[in-house]
Amino acid sequence: MKTIVWFRNDLRVHDHPALKNASECGEVLPVVILPDRAFPTASDWWVYKSLTHLQLKLVELGSELTILKGNPSSTLSLLAEETQADAIFFNGQVDPVSRKEEMVLLELESLSKVDIQRFDPNMLLDPSHLKTGAGQPYKVFGAFWKSLQQQKIPWPTAAPASLTNWAHEITGSIPLKESGLRSPFNWDATLEQAWEPGETASFEQWATFRDKRLQFYDFKRDFPSLNGTSRLSGYLASGNMGIRALWHAVKRAQEDGIAPQPEAFLRQLAWREFSYYQLFHFPDITERPLRSEFLNFPWLNDSSEFESWKAGKTGYPLVDAGMRELWETGTIHNRVRMVVASFLIKHLLVDWRMGAEWFRETLIDYDVANNTLGWQWVAGSGFDAAPYFRIFNPTTQSKKFDKSGEYIRRWIPELAKLPDVHLHEPQTASEDVLMTAGVVLGETYPLPIVDHSAARARALDAYALIKGKKEELR
Ligand SMILES: Cc1cc2nc3c(=O)[nH]c(=O)nc-3n(C[C@H](O)[C@H](O)[C@H](O)COP(=O)(O)OP(=O)(O)OC[C@H]3O[C@@H](n4cnc5c(N)ncnc54)[C@H](O)[C@@H]3O)c2cc1C
Repeated sequence: MKTIVWFRNDLRVHDHPALKNASECGEVLPVVILPDRAFPTASDWWVYKSLTHLQLKLVELGSELTILKGNPSSTLSLLAEETQADAIFFNGQVDPVSRKEEMVLLELESLSKVDIQRFDPNMLLDPSHLKTGAGQPYKVFGAFWKSLQQQKIPWPTAAPASLTNWAHEITGSIPLKESGLRSPFNWDATLEQAWEPGETASFEQWATFRDKRLQFYDFKRDFPSLNGTSRLSGYLASGNMGIRALWHAVKRAQEDGIAPQPEAFLRQLAWREFSYYQLFHFPDITERPLRSEFLNFPWLNDSSEFESWKAGKTGYPLVDAGMRELWETGTIHNRVRMVVASFLIKHLLVDWRMGAEWFRETLIDYDVANNTLGWQWVAGSGFDAAPYFRIFNPTTQSKKFDKSGEYIRRWIPELAKLPDVHLHEPQTASEDVLMTAGVVLGETYPLPIVDHSAARARALDAYALIKGKKEELR
């Protein structure tokens, strides 16, 4: 049997049941179909590097990756016809665009004689499996997590031992370097310093985290200057690492006594699962707030304040440090993600969808489910979200989670010489202190673009406006 294996957000050979099953049925043609994108994003850079790695892995196993561009279903249909393929295997995804692609493929008349099979390794469990006692999807994380912990998570599939190549000249196939995935900015050099994408690197990253940081995760995860989290999100988002493989690896580390209490980390993997689960059950949430009263929110969307936020020039050091870290490295620590998102939504009254779009362009770990639900959580418009009226004070957050200012000093060198006591709010320093530190507010570093107390009061007024207008749409 000749099987096309369609690679998507699963750029790996382990825990890839589509590839494994195809390898057991005969000859295999691995293929990836890239979108025609005018403007590559930071995560496209990650995909580019992952594909470079995947090509090598497939060659080691005896096969080759074919790279095509275009609409997935019509491209696969033409490919199946050209190569006289018997089957197309792929792993499913839950986001609405990918699900639509799958539906179209499954219903194509031209493929009616081709055996099309969908496998399901990209979540811990099939999202239609977990339901409340009333048979409804969970809307509260606590209950979802409790239920998930009682389930048996399927084991990951092993990588195929070898692949039987299916030599064929493919019309329209392109070399990777012509894929258009390279970043137009000067990102590549800085991203390359910060990250090494690919399946092998994902295992190395996991092993380092397991041995050095997993047991301290719960204590260190909230402090951006400490290297306390796994930094696995890029690998998970592109599928360099399978989520089931990671889940079972954590359990093994627990059994082996390397990390006797890994619950806090497993809980974060469950947040990923919950995001995917919600996107599966409520596919329009990338555009619509889950709580319908937020449809009427009076956003201001001031473009110059939005630009200041993007550039890390709001005058709030923790916010600015996070936004600059994002631009330099394609990531932000989770605590700081919450602070920058809250600042945009609540202090500036900018629609969360504009922030989510900026993250889509700049995050190396961009993941439509995690990103959407992260923003809806901060906005208070998600089901089990932070209440809107709980407004982060960026200065208090800064003093609490970056007390010694190590993180701020790393990303805002122009403030580095300020004493700790003024680092979190430079406008409180005297002229003398500022001068000694070489800071000229409004010139070398901006004054706060909004006053915290006034912005807080304005946000609460805006929230009061929509509170009375709740109409239950779901
Ligand atoms: C506004 C906002 C936007 C976000 N956008 C994304 C995104 O596009 N892609 C993304 O992967 N994560 C996103 N997150 C979630 C979280 O910030 C990142 O997953 C985390 O910072 C990645 O670092 P890590 O791998 O070291 O995480 P760890 O703390 O080591 O966690 C391990 C893994 O668990 C998952 N995870 C952790 N926290 C969350 C969470 N709150 N929600 C869902 N999954 C989680 C991730 O897959 C992560 O890699 C967002 C959060 C917010 C508040």
